[in-house]
Amino acid sequence: MARITLDDVTKRFGEEGDSVVAVDDVSLEMQDGEFIVFVGPSGSGKSTLMRIVAGLETQSEGDVFIEDTVVNQLGPRARDIAMVFQNYALYPNMTVEENMSFGLKMSTDLSADEIERKVTEAAEMMGIGKLLDNKPGELSGGQQQRVALGRAIVRDPNVFLMDEPLSNLDAKLRTTMRTEINRLQNELGVTTLYVTHDQTEAMTMGDRLVVLNYGELQQVGTPLECFYRPANEFVAGFIGSPS
Ligand code: ADP
Ligand code: MG
Repeated sequence: MARITLDDVTKRFGEEGDSVVAVDDVSLEMQDGEFIVFVGPSGSGKSTLMRIVAGLETQSEGDVFIEDTVVNQLGPRARDIAMVFQNYALYPNMTVEENMSFGLKMSTDLSADEIERKVTEAAEMMGIGKLLDNKPGELSGGQQQRVALGRAIVRDPNVFLMDEPLSNLDAKLRTTMRTEINRLQNELGVTTLYVTHDQTEAMTMGDRLVVLNYGELQQVGTPLECFYRPANEFVAGFIGSPS
């Protein structure tokens, strides 16, 4: 059974007669443990589609399933999904440890010891075990990004969503963090949905790519399939396939 299924999902913004179709009739299955990349130019509907999966946005038409349950009516928390965005949204006045444990304290009845254990484990995994007492302002961009990822890990979600999480980092760090995110995903085996407009990022990171343009699904396939057997001119041009 697929972890997440999108069935004829359409999202329009604005009034009838004067609306933008941000997502146009997209159907898609994401298997358990897959690393799926939504890739396409700016404005192609990547973020909107991810927000629909997250429950942050309601689709105009169609259904979202988690396993065999329709979750159209469920908010983000009930969907058991963790998100990481490009502006990491860490709390500046809290330590790293507090940033990472805050969500668990608010939303679970785990004991303080159990929370500390989970936070320490996630921090070790992200290589920030020595920074637990620091404030975000004392950390580099890359370290802050690791905290944001660590904070997502401690929640032990069924699904990770990441929307251009590396776009604020410099090129060198971006390369390092790509590897790091792939390693993490492999270790945890958690279904991951990753949004980027960067072809290289998509090609190097994804098990499968979902190529979007103007809200329409252009192709779903492995990076090699999209590269060597592009479904259309757009995919060929965007992925940079040989002609
Ligand atoms: P991407 O993430 O691929 O850059 P988005 O999903 O952000 O694309 O946007 C897809 C389209 O939907 C764009 O035309 C954008 O202007 C429009 N859009 C996104 N969010 C809103 C919104 N809240 N209100 C109106 N239009 C929106
Ligand atoms: Mg976006």
